[in-house]
Amino acid sequence: MDRSEAAHPRWADIDLEALERNYLNVQRRLKPGTHIICSIKADAYGHGAVAVAERLAAMGCHSLATGDIDEAIAMRRAGVRAKIVMFAGPLPEGLQEFLAHDLIPTVYDHEGAEAVSRAATKSTPVYVKVDCGLGRLGVRLDEAAEYIAGIARLANIVIEGVYSHVPFATRATAEWSQRGLHAFGGLIAELARRGIRPEITQARASSGVLMDLDDPCNAVCVGHLLYGLSSMAPGEAELAGFEPILAAVRGRLVHIGRHPAGRDIAVGGLYGINSARTTGVLPMGMTNGLRMPAPGNQAFALFRGRRVPVLSVSLEHTTLDLTDLQDLKVGEAVTVLGADGAERITIEDIAEWQGRAPLEVAMTLSKRLPFRHGNRADDVWANFGTN
Ligand SMILES: *Cc1c(COP(=O)(O)O)cnc(C)c1O
Repeated sequence: MDRSEAAHPRWADIDLEALERNYLNVQRRLKPGTHIICSIKADAYGHGAVAVAERLAAMGCHSLATGDIDEAIAMRRAGVRAKIVMFAGPLPEGLQEFLAHDLIPTVYDHEGAEAVSRAATKSTPVYVKVDCGLGRLGVRLDEAAEYIAGIARLANIVIEGVYSHVPFATRATAEWSQRGLHAFGGLIAELARRGIRPEITQARASSGVLMDLDDPCNAVCVGHLLYGLSSMAPGEAELAGFEPILAAVRGRLVHIGRHPAGRDIAVGGLYGINSARTTGVLPMGMTNGLRMPAPGNQAFALFRGRRVPVLSVSLEHTTLDLTDLQDLKVGEAVTVLGADGAERITIEDIAEWQGRAPLEVAMTLSKRLPFRHGNRADDVWANFGTN
């Protein structure tokens, strides 16, 4: 353990080989030649956008997509050269900033398209977003052909992509999404009749790929599946062949507390404890994305290959019940997520304890936990030992 690790005895292992396998697994499900746009919004769904983006670009993905300009600029500063498509539009006056950083804007109204045209000094790609029923961003489907034909005539604008987003999380709503995809196909055909053939047409995200919806497009835009997260509600679909890339969250004990019977300690509601307890304290808590379980649930961590109960999670600390364990030492490792011996705690386990969605767990765990982006996380772990 080096000095810096000793000063930060908590971390998350991101398995970039699992990311590659998930990418290939998406590719295998698509018609040959289908382009893959990788959604790396929200800091790559909490997994660290720059390292993830570099790996996906190396895999040959068509482009990266995010809605956050700060994230996109961070990517450019880190040397990521891949195309970056910006999901959400800024205010029209903000579009110039996008172009300055070589980011491809999405447009869906006349003000936005005209602002890009005005700001552009050379032929500039844009993506047009069409609302096929989600009711969030996008030009309305019934107005889209006219709109696209209109902005195709603006100076310096090249319509590189036309896309839509019709996400769903249950089998029952897959039909709604399928209708949106068919309607979008109608728009693509109408554009072709008008002589407009964008290089990229895209409307399927993770659920559409996972459920193999019928798709009129030549590209998909996926996020969840790349990270091994299900975009479907629990029990709705098998995530066959996809693995979580958040392989482990671990920390080291910074304190062992010995509390004789009859003491009046408060942690975990042990007031007036009547049998002796031994507690271990991890230097990570809510600020690092951990949470107390929902009422009635018990959370666990793994220690020396077995499950130990979590007594409490506060802002910066998590206290474990290590009663009955012998020879405890400060510096011993604890697994909050991942495998230890034959035991394993999954994101779904934690989500169930906390009463939240797995994506929320992955997102909150990224808050101020140092990431170790490596290959085969368990090897990374072995290199750091347990003592
Ligand atoms: C987030 C997002 C996606 C990717 O969705 P996943 O369900 O994570 O695959 C695709 N398109 C748009 C417009 C998005 O905002």
